[in-house]
Amino acid sequence: MARIVQKFGGTSVADIDRIKAAAQRVKRAVDAGDEVAVVVSAMSGTTNQLVEWTRAVSPMHDAREYDVVVSAGEQVTVGLMAMALQDIGVDARSWLGWQIPMETDDMHGRARILDVKADEIVRRFGLGQVAVMAGFQGIASDNRITTLGRGGSDTSAVALAAAINADRCDIYTDVDGIYTSDPRIVTRARKLDKITYEEMLEMASLGAKVLQTRSVELAMNHRVRLQVLSSFEDAPGTLVVDEEEIVEQEIVSGIAHSGNEAKITLVRVPDNPGIAAAIFGPLSEASIIVDMIVQNVSEDGNATDLTFTVPKDDLARTMEVLEAAQDRLGFERVVGDPDVVKISVVGVGMRSHAGVAMRMFQALADKGINIQVISTSEIKISVLVSDAYTELALRSLHTAYGLDAV
Ligand code: ADP
Ligand code: ASP
Ligand code: MG
Repeated sequence: MARIVQKFGGTSVADIDRIKAAAQRVKRAVDAGDEVAVVVSAMSGTTNQLVEWTRAVSPMHDAREYDVVVSAGEQVTVGLMAMALQDIGVDARSWLGWQIPMETDDMHGRARILDVKADEIVRRFGLGQVAVMAGFQGIASDNRITTLGRGGSDTSAVALAAAINADRCDIYTDVDGIYTSDPRIVTRARKLDKITYEEMLEMASLGAKVLQTRSVELAMNHRVRLQVLSSFEDAPGTLVVDEEEIVEQEIVSGIAHSGNEAKITLVRVPDNPGIAAAIFGPLSEASIIVDMIVQNVSEDGNATDLTFTVPKDDLARTMEVLEAAQDRLGFERVVGDPDVVKISVVGVGMRSHAGVAMRMFQALADKGINIQVISTSEIKISVLVSDAYTELALRSLHTAYGLDAV
């Protein structure tokens, strides 16, 4: 007997037949004697539709009301899943985020979980009841509904698994595991049996949306055994594990991409001490997160160009903030470019191997792909290139690092 959390993503609960199929999967675990908590996402497409509606009413809407709207998709699936389970003889009840409660901070739209009070769920395990919890939802201390950011049901599942001390957290999705790169783009991507928490954390934060970044962070901190697997077939998926559990470590284990960034260039910025602080200060006050940054050495000692990236959704706001400060900052002009993609190679093996970056630069050069910005950390190298090259860059790098499936 084990205590497990089973999370079903949007495509796995996309219609009534799929909800019924997922319920059968839950029943099998219950019949095997497991204590099961289920976490569901909204039906695929639903959350996008809800987000669109909030934007259509008002682009500058109240974030608290946004959360009331976009959390609604999960209210539908959680009830349907509980019914589907009851229908096949499994004792089950639904739980909305606030009923648990899944306590979060008040950063509406991207709230962080602070505490999960799951005693009642555990008590009901003792009575043989399955808990079906709505993913993505939380409640702030002022009693307002919050949501955990797009893809947040993964984080709900891991947080619940940690709170009830589950033996495993299984993330059922529309691919059968974590691949060396997004299998929908890189057809030769290989399924990994195991990946380290650290690598998955980088992959997720660099754009691999198979797991929400925060869910991996939580799993790592609370030592939750996390598995990603297919809800459509019965095959082992990918386990996210500690580094010690991986016997043969590749130098590069995955390649991620993110189209969520935009590039900003400030042309002819005065080359004075304090100028970077003067530029990035107002952006940070506006809660705009700056990612990659490059500053050129000025030729004449007077002025230089500064390039950096911000989330694509924040491009317009960033331009506004900078244009408003143009006189004070003294740059010549600001140029925004949304047509870029960040491509990153990730691997803990990089720590002990030279030449990893070189191989990336060479592979891109061979295809005539120009690198606009580079940034590195201990276990990853990221480059910014024109988004017209997304597929070509991913596939070429996948081959260059010997990751192609044979
Ligand atoms: P769910 O609705 O089940 O949460 P998501 O769409 O959020 O599913 O995540 C699954 C998707 O993640 C896959 O369909 C795949 O296109 C994408 N993905 C991106 N990178 C990877 C990767 N390295 N391995 C597997 N899937 C990936
Ligand atoms: N339904 C939410 C979303 O689409 C949460 C999730 O699916 O994980 O972002
Ligand atoms: Mg997801």
